[in-house]
Amino acid sequence: MADASIQDRQPDPALFAFLEQTLQLIDRGLDYEILTNIFEMQILSRFGVSLNIHECCVCHRVGLPFDFSFRLGGVLCPDHYDRDERRAHWDPNALYLLDRFQAVKFSELETISIHDEMKKELRKCLDQLYDEYVGIHLKAKKFIDSLGSWGEILKD
Ligand SMILES: [Zn+2]
Repeated sequence: MADASIQDRQPDPALFAFLEQTLQLIDRGLDYEILTNIFEMQILSRFGVSLNIHECCVCHRVGLPFDFSFRLGGVLCPDHYDRDERRAHWDPNALYLLDRFQAVKFSELETISIHDEMKKELRKCLDQLYDEYVGIHLKAKKFIDSLGSWGEILKD
């Protein structure tokens, strides 16, 4: 995905450092699913995608149980859910986490722990965001997705 997000033959030191740090944390045993989610959120902008997950698109309030609107490219608060009759109906806690992931620092990563149900919800949200806004179905992403099922096989 890092490769797909940049132009051929154009070095991107910041992205390289970010990817390297992410891989080192996976090596150190931090949760690869969470790290992958964070990586996916933080490189969305490199695909030209800018989403407003922090405040209601209509009234700009923060810290509410938001839902996502694909039409508006951002979140709606309960008072403004009706601005998009096809809103995503995502778990507000997933949107809270996705918002955090956009700006999370490496030093904070070791304190993040997420239960399996929420991980599934995050996976679903990110898949839908990538399908809708990035469009291409990345081979690398399919590979990452398939790691989840490998984990299940190894447990047997
Ligand atoms: Zn609102």
